[in-house]
Formats: sequence, C-alpha cells, structure tokens
Amino acid sequence: MALHQVRPRILGFISEDVSAWLVAWLVLVAGLLLTGLLAWGTLKQFNQQLRQRFELLAEERYTRLEERFQDQEQRLDSLRRFFANSAGVSSYEFHGYTEALLRRTWAFAWAPRVLKGERQAFEERARAEVSGTFTVREPDEAGNLRVAEERDEYVPVLYVQSQPSFSAPLGLDLLSHPMRRATLERARQHSALVVSEPIDLIGGDPALSRGVMLAAPVFKQSAGEPFGYVVAAISMRQLVADGLPEVDDDNLSMRVLDSAHELPWELLFETSNRPGESDLSAVRMVRLADHDFRIELRPSLAFLSSSHSSVISLTVLGGLISLLLSALLYMLVSQRQRALALVEQRTRELRARESELRGTHGQLKGVLDAATQVAIIATDLRGVITTFNAGAEQMLGYRSCDVLQSMTLESLHVPRELQYRAAQLAARFGKPIPTCHAMLLEGGEQGGQQAREWTLVRRDGSHLTVNMLAAPVLDDQGLWVGHLAICIDITERKRVHEALAARDLLLKKLSAHVPGGIYQFKMDFNGGFSVIYASDGIRDIYELEPDVLVRHAEAIFSRIHPLDSARVRASIRTSADTLSPWREEYRVQLPHRGLRWVRGEATPEQLPGGGVLWHGYISDISDLKRVEEELRALSVTDALTGIRNRRYFQERLTSEMTRVERGSGDLTVIMLDIDHFKRINDQHGHAVGDRVLQAVCQRITQRLRRTDVFCRLGGEEFVVLCPNTDSESAYTLALGLWDGLRSAPIDDVGVITASFGVASWRAGEGADALLLRADAGVYAAKQAGRDRVEVQAG
Ligand code: GH3
Ligand code: MG
Ligand code: MG
Repeated sequence: MALHQVRPRILGFISEDVSAWLVAWLVLVAGLLLTGLLAWGTLKQFNQQLRQRFELLAEERYTRLEERFQDQEQRLDSLRRFFANSAGVSSYEFHGYTEALLRRTWAFAWAPRVLKGERQAFEERARAEVSGTFTVREPDEAGNLRVAEERDEYVPVLYVQSQPSFSAPLGLDLLSHPMRRATLERARQHSALVVSEPIDLIGGDPALSRGVMLAAPVFKQSAGEPFGYVVAAISMRQLVADGLPEVDDDNLSMRVLDSAHELPWELLFETSNRPGESDLSAVRMVRLADHDFRIELRPSLAFLSSSHSSVISLTVLGGLISLLLSALLYMLVSQRQRALALVEQRTRELRARESELRGTHGQLKGVLDAATQVAIIATDLRGVITTFNAGAEQMLGYRSCDVLQSMTLESLHVPRELQYRAAQLAARFGKPIPTCHAMLLEGGEQGGQQAREWTLVRRDGSHLTVNMLAAPVLDDQGLWVGHLAICIDITERKRVHEALAARDLLLKKLSAHVPGGIYQFKMDFNGGFSVIYASDGIRDIYELEPDVLVRHAEAIFSRIHPLDSARVRASIRTSADTLSPWREEYRVQLPHRGLRWVRGEATPEQLPGGGVLWHGYISDISDLKRVEEELRALSVTDALTGIRNRRYFQERLTSEMTRVERGSGDLTVIMLDIDHFKRINDQHGHAVGDRVLQAVCQRITQRLRRTDVFCRLGGEEFVVLCPNTDSESAYTLALGLWDGLRSAPIDDVGVITASFGVASWRAGEGADALLLRADAGVYAAKQAGRDRVEVQAG
C-alpha cells in the first residue's frame, strides 16, 4: 500500500505534498486579504461614527450659536421696548436695565435722534446727565473722535453700557460713519432690528474689535420717525467664542464669515485650533436679525486625535497574525513533511534492512539446514534451545518444533558426563560450576575454543558420541546473548579410528615378526621425498628411528653407500615415471654394523594430486649376498686350478671388447697349451697330471700383472686376457711366462713346456676372431716344434 494513501492531511485539509512555501504564501495572502476586509469594514464604521459624532457636535454648536444670536436679538429688542414704552429713560435707568442684559455683548448704547436745532440743548442735557465733556463727535480720517460738524440730523451715543475694558465712545454720531448710517437707515426703513456690515468696534480691545452693530429704531408710535436707536456692539469673537472649550480640547475648528455681501466673504472669526485632515465639514447660515452669517465647522486635530481608529492596530495585528500563522503553517507543514520524509527514509531503510535480514536469515537457515552432517544448536542465556537445524534433527531424532523454546542443551547431555565435567571445572576454577554450564565453559587447558567429545542422548534414548564446539553468541554491541553449539557425529570416526588402531597394532605385531621393514614412501609432484609409514623393522635396516624417517626422509640417503646412492635415486624416479615396481639392491653404511646389503621392493601408486606413493618392504640381504658371491666365485672358478674358468673369461672378454670397441686402449690375448700333456698322464697317472696343471697355473699366476686375467679354457689350455696391453708388451709377458714355466722342473715330472700364441685386438675384429688368431698362434708354435711363443700378427 502506498504511503500517501494512508497519510492524514495536515490540520485536516492541507495535502502533505503541497509546498510549505505555497501554503505559507496562501495563508499570508488570505490573512492579509481578511485583514484588509476587516480594516476596510472597521474604517467604514469608524468614518461613519466619526461623521455622526462630528455632525452631533456641529449641530450642537449651531444650535448654541443660533440661540446666542437670537438671544442678542431678544436683548436688544427688550431694550428697544424699554425705551419705546418709557416716557423717558435716565442714564441711571438705562444702566440699571442694561446691566442685566450685558452678556456676550460688547456694549449696549442708546443714541437718540437729534436734529440740527436740538444739538446744543441736547449736548447741555447730556453734559448734565452723562458727562461734563459730552459733545457730539465724529471720527476724523485717522479714526480719532472730534467734535461733529454741523449736520441736519445726529444720532449721537448717549448712554453706553459696556464691558469694563471698553471705553465708551460717548457722543459719537452714528450718522457720521457711512456704514453705521446705512445700518440706521435700514433699521428706520424696515422698522426692525438690523445688523451692520462688519465693523471695527471703537474703544475696545483690538483683538475683539471686529464685530457687528445691531441696531433697532425706537418709535413712540407705530408710525413716523424713530426718536432714537438702541444699538448693541457685538464682538463676533466674544459672541461665538465665549464658553468654547480650551483650544486644545475643542473638537471643532470654526470659521464665521460674513456671507451677506459680495465675495470674498470676510472672515469674522476663526478658532485658533487648526482643522485636521478630514473630509468632514459642515456649513450653515445662521441668521442674526436680517443678516446671515456663514458658519463653517471642521473637525479639529483634537477631534481627530481623540477619535482613534483601530484600523492601523487592526491592520498591524491582522498582518502580524497572518505572518505568524503563515510562519506557523510553514513550520508545521515543512516539519511535518520533513518528519514524513524522514519516516519514509527510515521506512525504506528498515525495509531494506528487513529484506536484507530476511535474505540473511534465509541464507543462514539454508546453510543451517544444508549442514545435515552437522548439528547446530543455539541457545539463549538460560540454555533454552532457540535454533535446531536439520542436521541436529537428523542426528538426535527430535523435530525442531519439539525442541525449540522447550528443551535445554543440558537435557540433551548424559547427566553423569556433565557432572564429571562440572566437577573438573570446579576444581580448576576453584568455584562451583553448574552442570548447565559444564559443556559451555572452556577448561583453559589449551586456551581458545576447543571442540570436546560429548555423549548426547537421542530421542529414542540411544547415545551418540559427538565432537562439540561451544561458543558464546554476541550481539552487535558485543553483549552475550546466548550460546552456539556445533556438533559432529564422531561415532563412525571413532569406530574407524579404533579399527585403524587395531590394524596398526596388527601391522606392528606382524611387522615385528617379519625380517626387514615395511614402509610407505612418497614422492611429491615436485620431487620431494617423505616417509609416510615405517615399521619398527626399518630401525634395523638403516639404524634410524622410524619417527625420524617420517619427519626426515632424506636421512635414508645419508645411510646409503655413496656408490649406490645415485643408482637408488635414479631407480626410484624410473619407477615413478613408469609406475613400474621398484626393486633395488644396494649397500648401506651403518654406524654400528658397518656395510650391509639391503634389498628394497615397492609397488608405486599414482596419487590424485600428483606424486607417487610406494608401499614396500626392505630386508637385509647381506648373508644372501655373501652366498651369492660365493656361488658366483665358484661358478667362474676352475675347481682344479683355482683360477678363473672359461665362463669368466668369456664375460671378461665381452666387457673388454666393449671397452676397446669404444676406442679406449688395447687388448691382447695370450693363449697357451701344455706340450705333450697326454704323455704325462700316460706316464704318471691322471692325478700327477692334475698336480702338473696346478703347478703350471701357480707359476704363471706368479708372473702375471694385477690387471691380467688368467683363465683355464679347458684341459691343459689356458688364456691370459691382458687389458690395455699392446702386442709387444704381451709378447714380452708371454716370453716371461714361457721362460718361467720351462726354467725349472716340476717335481716328479720334470720340465714342462707350453706353446704360446699371442694376438692383439684389431679394429673391427670380433671376440671369436681374436680368439681364433690366438689359437692360430698356439697352433703355429706347436707346428714349429712346441715350447715357444708365436705372435699372430694383425
Ligand atoms: P700336444 O703337444 O700336441 O699338445 O700333445 P698332447 O698330448 O698334449 O695333446 P692332446 O691334446 O692330444 O692331449 C691332451 C691330453 O690331456 C689328453 C687328456 O687325457 C689329457 N687331459 C685333459 N684334461 C686332463 C685333466 O684334467 N687331467 C689329466 N690328468 N689329464 C688331462
Ligand atoms: Mg697339449
Ligand atoms: Mg691340448
């Protein structure tokens, strides 16, 4: 089954084959997208909330301003009604009334309408009532007040109720200024409250001086000309800025513009806080009397900074979480993939190892089972059998399934034998040895693991003698995990050994009764000699111990006579080459018994690996040799005279002929025949004849050289073989012999003579021809009267 089919997916949905980088990127992109969406939603909601809040604040601001504007209108209108409904209003009453009204208003003033003719009287009254210096004034070009020029009509300020910082412009003719004049004109025309164009309020703080003038005509009756005007000087800054939060806390940035006139509209007031970066804004026209003022509101920095959006935090957080999540997934997937790759690699290695082990196990099992002649038994540390091969089954009659994990190695032994061995080991090691270890422990006698003979018990109870080698089994770390016992059935070997021992004994006994020695002799393929076996009898032959010979075969040749040694070696090689029986008689020179003759006979046998093995026998033939030599001497000796006979002569002649035919030296034959020997027999009897023959031989022998060979050819004929002797020397020798014979008489018989024939070998001549010529020489001597030497020339 393929691995990937059973793999669970990472976190239940990620395939493990997907690249970790891809997963990380996908997660990061998805996370960022989600964060973006969330941020977008949050931003949208935030903007909406911001707008709502802004609108709420703006509405509240507008409402407040409208109320203030209306309040200003109402206060001035109230003052107007006060003047309209009163018969006369004194300065005291004016101040009493307006004191309560003076709130967010720069100043309230009462300016009666004074006609040209009434000016003086008016100024006098005013000086009496208001100020001693009162006069109707008007501003000059520089803006300073001066006494007003004469005009038809004046509207001078009589009463002023103002803020403490304001220095009231008493006496200022409101008609002297065109814009104020226009305002009063409009108020008179509409009989209503009107607002002037933006003006600089005179006598006040310049920072607050930009403002408007509210004016309302005061009528006695419902129609006609007004008898004066109530005026309110309003500093726009004071009106709108009063009660606003501190600059830094104000959420709105406000601008008040005069929108009643042509563009560009004049900015009447602006809060000092700066508007923030925002598209939020509100514009509303707020009406004061007959005039609309444009109020522009924008969120201030304080507003924006107090309205923190969590979008950036959300984005950063979302980004971070996405990044973390992608990193986490990358690590998870990559680690998982690495882990799986590692698992796959380990699995592959394990499988390879398993298959290798299976193969090895199969091979081992095959080897174990193939070794049918060897019992291989493995045990664990307790001695319980864990392996029992086919050889063990065959040897012991158990089936392996009956033995494995149920029997111990000890149970296969004869208890008595184990006890005996345990006692032996205990004595050696000086501590008690359990019987279950007796077959496993090495006694230390020889050192190392040694096979030992044990008796095992078969299933049927019969005994089996084995040679058992027990060795510890070690694992990869060298730890002892069990034992291995290898047993070889030695019953047959033992039987053969015993039979061989018996045969050896028999051979020993037999050979002890046989003169001579029995041996096995081997020549290697490279020509080296060795003695495989030598019976005790060999000791007498060579005066060498048999075991010395077995170790050092060449010792034999140290005993063989130097003259025979090469011959013996040659004959051995010949026998080896031709595989013909070896038979040789040779002399040995022994330390104690001296020179002895021995005879060796052996039958060769070709060895499979090259070399030859001889089975043989050697006996001492010294006595036989002596008899033989005696017989030989007899066979070539003339019985009557004791010199060599004709046979011997023939042999020597043949060998000498061979020599001279090879071209080495001369050969001469001296033949002699006793003259008239028949007469001696006839006269003195046969016995005297025999004595004469003996005496003749004795005389001739005395005169011969050591190399000369003297033989009796038969009757009274003799021959002398003279090797390396030329004709002349032989003639001289023959003359000496002739003279030696005839120079002195033989007892009872007298002088005996003989006829000599001398013949030297000629090149290409045969033995018979040579003898014939020698014989011809004798004949010639006979013919010439006997008693002489005749040389038969070549
Ligand atoms: P010639 O000078 O011609 O040689 O005369 P001869 O008598 O020696 O010649 P012949 O060959 O006729 O005679 C040889 C005799 O030698 C004959 C034989 O009786 C005798 N004779 C041969 N062998 C022996 C022997 O062993 N003992 C004795 N006593 N006589 C022998
Ligand atoms: Mg004769
Ligand atoms: Mg004769």
